[in-house]
Amino acid sequence: MIVVIRPDAPDPEATVLAVTQLAARFDDIQVRPYTFSGTQDAFTEIHLIGPAAAVPAEPFEAIPGVLRVVRVSTRYRIIGSHGERSETAGFEYNDVRFDNLTLNVFAGLCAVDAPAHVEATMSALRDAGLVTTRMGAYKPRTSPYDFQGLGGACLPYVFELAGRYGIRVVAMEVTDARHIDEITRALAEAGEPTGVMLQVGTRNAQNFELLKAVGQQQRFPVLFKRGMGITLEESLNACEYVASEGNPRIIFCLRGVKTHLGDPHRNLVDFAHVPVVRRQTRLSVCVDPSHSVGRMDTPADGIPDVFHVAGQGIIAGASSVLIDFHPKPQEALCDGPQALRLDQLPVFLRYLRRVRAAYEASVADLQREGMHG
Ligand code: PEP
Ligand code: MN
Repeated sequence: MIVVIRPDAPDPEATVLAVTQLAARFDDIQVRPYTFSGTQDAFTEIHLIGPAAAVPAEPFEAIPGVLRVVRVSTRYRIIGSHGERSETAGFEYNDVRFDNLTLNVFAGLCAVDAPAHVEATMSALRDAGLVTTRMGAYKPRTSPYDFQGLGGACLPYVFELAGRYGIRVVAMEVTDARHIDEITRALAEAGEPTGVMLQVGTRNAQNFELLKAVGQQQRFPVLFKRGMGITLEESLNACEYVASEGNPRIIFCLRGVKTHLGDPHRNLVDFAHVPVVRRQTRLSVCVDPSHSVGRMDTPADGIPDVFHVAGQGIIAGASSVLIDFHPKPQEALCDGPQALRLDQLPVFLRYLRRVRAAYEASVADLQREGMHG
């Protein structure tokens, strides 16, 4: 059961105390408070964990300052939308808003391979007006003989250059809880020039100790990538692990699923799940067209497959895109064949904004027609 506190409650602390005291009268019920920041307000919720079916809602509803009581029947206690909480979707981090209304593009290197490539990329991002990027330092590779990423060694110049070029948020995969400490230390040593969003990769979608570790810290938000060989429900449960440990600032990223039925693409594109995730949860949705498509073929209509696929995610309601760029894709040490060139960034952004505008026009149109549930 979830007790939602009014954002405008006159004395929220007294309300929380009254809810906690009342909950203590029921056997085996634990109380956990969570705060979410929506576009306009911060919402506090008190979650009653345990045999809450036997707990009546009415006395909680009667407490001054309580907005409503929601009985949770789904598994997604914290990330779930519970049918009525879309106002709480999203969060702000390092002055950047991540929600369903704001389009963010994490364009950058799949793997950091040289300071010059980082600088060229950051500079192109600044010229394009972007403040978000992706930079892989710790790479989970299929073969132990492949380039494993530069690890902590590249963090000082990645963060320094991000700050120099006005980049506010760097999406960076962590494959071990120790990487969170390395990132924290490197940011401090560089003078906190930028922010980091911790990426949990598809291969770690059910690494429960890593999920708990990124959930137990509240400093960095999490970009969670859907597991490539598990159900959507299993991936959403993985996000619930992160949230239940105390960190509800999560973006859910679709990146394709592994099956040869997607050939010749690297993965079968699963962006039809964007509206499903948005309906079932309060998470905003990102799509990764690079790892979905995985290659750059000559397009039939002049529009590369990664553009088409990114557009499919945006038209379905995704509000962020994670995409590989490289100054010299042919020299990249990881995933070069799927990277766009930096000179393709402006046209890619124009394409995305055009698709996003079509999506927003359709939402407005269907709302006018009263077809929006
Ligand atoms: C990545 O984004 O760099 C990556 C390795 O993606 P995924 O975990 O989706 O394979
Ligand atoms: Mn990659």
